Amino acid sequence: MTDSNVPMPKCEDLKLLQGQKALVTGGSSGIGKACAIALAAAGADVAVNYAHHEEAGQEVVETIKAAGGNAFAIGADVSQEEQVLSMFKQTIDAFGTIDILVNNAGMQRDAKFEEMTLQQWNQVISVNLTGQFLCAREAVKEFKRRGVVEEVSCAAGKIICMSSVHQVIPWAGHVNYATSKGGINMMMKSIAQEVAPDRIRVNSICPGAIRTPINRKAWETPEAYDSLMNLIPYKRIGEPDDIGRVAAWLASDQADYINGASIFVDGGMSLYPGFSTGDG
Ligand code: NAD
Repeated sequence: MTDSNVPMPKCEDLKLLQGQKALVTGGSSGIGKACAIALAAAGADVAVNYAHHEEAGQEVVETIKAAGGNAFAIGADVSQEEQVLSMFKQTIDAFGTIDILVNNAGMQRDAKFEEMTLQQWNQVISVNLTGQFLCAREAVKEFKRRGVVEEVSCAAGKIICMSSVHQVIPWAGHVNYATSKGGINMMMKSIAQEVAPDRIRVNSICPGAIRTPINRKAWETPEAYDSLMNLIPYKRIGEPDDIGRVAAWLASDQADYINGASIFVDGGMSLYPGFSTGDG
């Protein structure tokens, strides 16, 4: 029985990540920004990575600080090994260690398949897939060096890979992007299998359509939004915070026995909505 006079604690009030240090790549906009803010609200100190726009990273830091959290902004292109190494060094110098990596940075360079240039292919694979590899590798080194600190977390470290429903749903006109996300799925599982004995958890979040700059065309006009609803059984677009809250929980010890999993946060987009009428 529940006592209706007892207020339920809000997730962020639980401070599930108190004392933990997090790095969020691509943290200056969209889903990454929401993850950085949600992790900070749950008690983590957060390094907010930005690729080029320092002021956007700084804005997220100010939002976190205004809410009583601790954060700093750090520039790095995740596809460049030297820049990733330097970002990890600076974050570990500032925080002492890293407990959580949100491997979020990503991009699209769309084209009809036969018109897709090698540059468009390479750029998307370099940022979305190789970037996650480089950051995950550096995070694992630090997690293994430090090991489990029981007062902080049951695990030596947590990696959350931002994948997509397109790790399973093919996407015409976006072959480079869908391939990068399919690659993230197998990379995430293989790393998880390899480092689980070190008490390191590696999982993916697979967002459906979330209202961010990356897919503005899909939601910015009423016509586009209506058409998008054909793909979403839950009949609303996702908001960045829908992902942020899941990331904070997945990084916490509440999710300690989840390893090598893909969590679809998509309003049912991956439920084959084309079959929803039962016709045929
Ligand atoms: P976004 O464009 O707002 O965010 C992408 C972020 O990645 C930006 O902050 C950008 O600066 C950063 N970035 C790009 N290249 C980078 C680089 N080389 N180095 C460092 N940072 C870089 O879009 P978003 O929707 O917030 O995307 C975040 C992640 O979520 C991406 O991996 C994307 O594939 C994934 N995703 C988004 C959706 C969606 O509907 N919005 C759905 C599924 C998956």
